[in-house]
Amino acid sequence: MIPSRAFANRTVAIFGLARTGLGAVRALVAGGTRVIAWDDDSNARDLGGQEGAELMPWREWPWENIAALILSPGVPLTHPKPHGVVEHANRAKVRIIGDVELFAHEIRPDPNGTAKAPVIAITGTNGKSTTTALVGHILTQCGFDAQIGGNIGKSVLELSPPSAKTIYVLEMSSFQIDLAPGLTPDVGILSNLSPDHIDRHGTMENYAAIKARLMRQTAKDGQVAIGVDDAYSSAIFTQASAGGGAQAHPVSVGKVLGRGIFVVDGTLYDAMGARAVRVMDMAAAARLPGTHNWQNAALAFGAVRPFVSDTKAIAAAIASFPGLAHRMEDVGHIGKIAFINDSKATNADATARALAVYPDIFWIAGGKPKDGGIEALSEFFPRVRKAYLIGEAAPMFARTLDGKAPYDMSGTLDVAIASAAADAAASSAPAPVVLLSPACASYDQFKDFEQRGDVFRSLVTKLPRDTKENPRVA
Ligand code: ADP
Repeated sequence: MIPSRAFANRTVAIFGLARTGLGAVRALVAGGTRVIAWDDDSNARDLGGQEGAELMPWREWPWENIAALILSPGVPLTHPKPHGVVEHANRAKVRIIGDVELFAHEIRPDPNGTAKAPVIAITGTNGKSTTTALVGHILTQCGFDAQIGGNIGKSVLELSPPSAKTIYVLEMSSFQIDLAPGLTPDVGILSNLSPDHIDRHGTMENYAAIKARLMRQTAKDGQVAIGVDDAYSSAIFTQASAGGGAQAHPVSVGKVLGRGIFVVDGTLYDAMGARAVRVMDMAAAARLPGTHNWQNAALAFGAVRPFVSDTKAIAAAIASFPGLAHRMEDVGHIGKIAFINDSKATNADATARALAVYPDIFWIAGGKPKDGGIEALSEFFPRVRKAYLIGEAAPMFARTLDGKAPYDMSGTLDVAIASAAADAAASSAPAPVVLLSPACASYDQFKDFEQRGDVFRSLVTKLPRDTKENPRVA
């Protein structure tokens, strides 16, 4: 844990006692701060109390004594409308920040101050977690103490304090960036941008502006690597490279760049110097399938390059990356059928990546729908042997698929997987894939995407192993 001393001997209020809120309670109490806190959930409140927070409903908070409000990134700051606690804080002119801001204060006291350890901050619509985990893996393989956290795994204040070998590798959601204006990473990474969380940001432009801010906040003597394969990120790269801030490296999959990092014909090239140098054949990285993962690998290469000069060592580490659960995770095979858990694909753009990889797909999709649904996926429908629709999105997805691909209104994941497995076994496809890639959030039927993926994994283990036992096949 990194004690937070920014508000020592003062009072700080915390709203939201989930992972980041609890981490903040612990760090602030350890730093000598009086913490008052609230969460609408009584279990969360109990945990906060155990960590030393004084529990008090937010409407009763003594705003005149509160030095700052630490807000959970899950609580609306601006859209669809500010939460009541935000309005109260604004009226009382109390600063609203997140746990990452407290972290930044400890690790890099001010933008021009000497950093106590380097920070790599990674954002984007898709690929954040994979890139963050990959950067952490490469740095660990290369002998660093990579402390990985933020929007993945541990909250930032629960990471270990810096040592001489520490590099912090932080996944940053747009909500966390909004609450961390003082974070000045040494390396900023932006993977890509497509519409997501628009309900929480109002417009795509606003969402993109928040991501752009992290690139601008990157230390002037630092570096940013930005995917340039979509229009929004490409515009941010142009601003960054012309902006007089951190040195900006473009990253592309499919385009040969005169300068930057790119993957063409399945080969990763480093063109950050005077000429393009071949780094590796991406086929060597078995757990990074698909062009989207090549983008993640190229971004990770850019992130670690300022710290590791041995590009062969970087290539070896990319090749040995074990992969992340719930991202195109191969969870088992029955006969010729592969079962792929891509539960983390909570929007159409993420699902497109999985649909692009397999030729014969028995596709389980649906959940809590996002704007636009699966309209954008129609180019992949010819690969869909059948879709198995679950959750609230099922009727909407059915309308999109109508006449373009067969579908089943399965309703729930257990029904979907049983039908998909039976149909895959009966099909003439040589290597059918039962793919859970929902293009939806999970909250209508599951606690979160992890639980949805875990249920999928456990349902796979319960399927009849011998296809003859399967009544739909027999
Ligand atoms: P995030 O943390 O940004 O949500 P993840 O690495 O967890 O990203 O991947 C989420 C989903 O997005 C996965 O289903 C994966 O297949 C897809 N994905 C991963 N990397 C990319 C990328 N670079 N571009 C588009 N989609 C991606």
